Amino acid sequence: MQQSECGIFPLDDALEMILIFDQFGIISYANREAEKNLEYDGGLCGRNIAEIFPGSFKVQGGILKTDYPFGRDLQKLVAYRRNFTCFPVEARILSADVEEKTYICMANITLEKDHLSREISEVREQARQALKVKSEFVANVTHELRTPVNGVLGHVRELSGQEEDERKLRTLKVIERCCDDMNKIINNILDFSKLEAGKFTLETRRFHMRDMLDYVKANHMNKITEKGLEFFMTVSPQVPEYIIGDELRIQQILNNLLSNALKFTSVGKITLEVLKTAQVKDRVELFFIVIDSGIGIDEGEMGKLFQSFSQVDASISRKYGGTGLGLNICKQLAELMGGRIGVESRKGRGSAFSFSIWAGVDSQENETVSRADTVTADFFANRQNQQDSARVYGSSENKEALNRTLSKLILCVEMENWEKAEMFMETLRQLTEGAPREVSRVVLRLKMAVQKENYDKVTAGFEELKAFLQA
Ligand code: ADP
Repeated sequence: MQQSECGIFPLDDALEMILIFDQFGIISYANREAEKNLEYDGGLCGRNIAEIFPGSFKVQGGILKTDYPFGRDLQKLVAYRRNFTCFPVEARILSADVEEKTYICMANITLEKDHLSREISEVREQARQALKVKSEFVANVTHELRTPVNGVLGHVRELSGQEEDERKLRTLKVIERCCDDMNKIINNILDFSKLEAGKFTLETRRFHMRDMLDYVKANHMNKITEKGLEFFMTVSPQVPEYIIGDELRIQQILNNLLSNALKFTSVGKITLEVLKTAQVKDRVELFFIVIDSGIGIDEGEMGKLFQSFSQVDASISRKYGGTGLGLNICKQLAELMGGRIGVESRKGRGSAFSFSIWAGVDSQENETVSRADTVTADFFANRQNQQDSARVYGSSENKEALNRTLSKLILCVEMENWEKAEMFMETLRQLTEGAPREVSRVVLRLKMAVQKENYDKVTAGFEELKAFLQA
């Protein structure tokens, strides 16, 4: 126990200022911290609380007046020292003794805290300004770079048209490819800086979904064939013919994922699947999966993939090039379109990049395909909430559910996740109950292949079943 100027209190050593006063505002106790900070040197007792907090308390005709909200909540007050200088505090004033009508004020100086938070907001503002200036600078420079690159490209193309010498033509082709690559990098940086600066806007219009997908496919077919890879594209029949969305940006994500799949795959195949995973009135959720049988990605590296400038390791960037911006842009674009992006991969076995978006459909489409159930796009989650009609073999819901389950199944098999594959196999079995005998047989063979973890037999069964479903 310590001896204070006006009594004995265990509060003397408290780290906050403590003042006790009566209904007239007369202070009967002040701890050391209060005496020290208010610079009264032991003279606080007998003073009036209104001298300390003149902004909140007043004495009129000997009566203490205040609109201070007594209670546990912290209030911001200004405390005055003896020499009339002041400092901010956070205080709570409680009724200490109802009968005696005494009050206790506990206050902490917030000068440092206020100063610190002012500094933090100043630094934040400076950083925001710096980022804005940087983004604008990057956007301007990249924009300016485009003109000369396109100028070179135009001239090279013109020369290529006139040149007959094989060797020179080859050189011109190399220059042309370099210009194309440079343009891609410029466009990526431009998009990235716009997205970072929050200046990116989507341009939504109605477009033909399959035409767009065919165009994307055609863009990559040459390189796919050059590399001797196989390419499969499956579009679920439930995907609307026309959708209302930003066609160019959907294409951009697909192009990026397909280019990566191509870049990192030297043998095997690349698959693009498109599904409709949910519908709420005239909005549909579309789900895209790009699967490759390429080099795959280490589990530990997967989290970093969608960060800007992130590449798996330096040797990869040396061998395959790239800026590490592509996937970050894809992520930001998918999110702008209300969706998500994700990856499943096995080192040495391949990768599956998937993303979802929400898009509009026109009312006609809506009538033909509308379904009440909303299926989440989590393609690894074995959702069993299909409507009853999905269990009727041959119905359009059943076909869609079968296609979806088959995609999930093959994805698990590609990733050698046999446990999950068995789960989807069971869903597949349930969905094919009541199917013609030849289908049931294929399903049975597929089931055994999955149980035996026989990759070749599973893929053979998958193709067989797919053929039945498309018939
Ligand atoms: P980059 O322009 O460098 O390709 P991305 O953001 O598109 O940038 O990709 C980042 C990194 O992610 C790549 O450098 C690569 O290491 C890894 N990656 C992306 N897609 C694949 C894939 N299909 N297979 C293996 N690794 C991939």
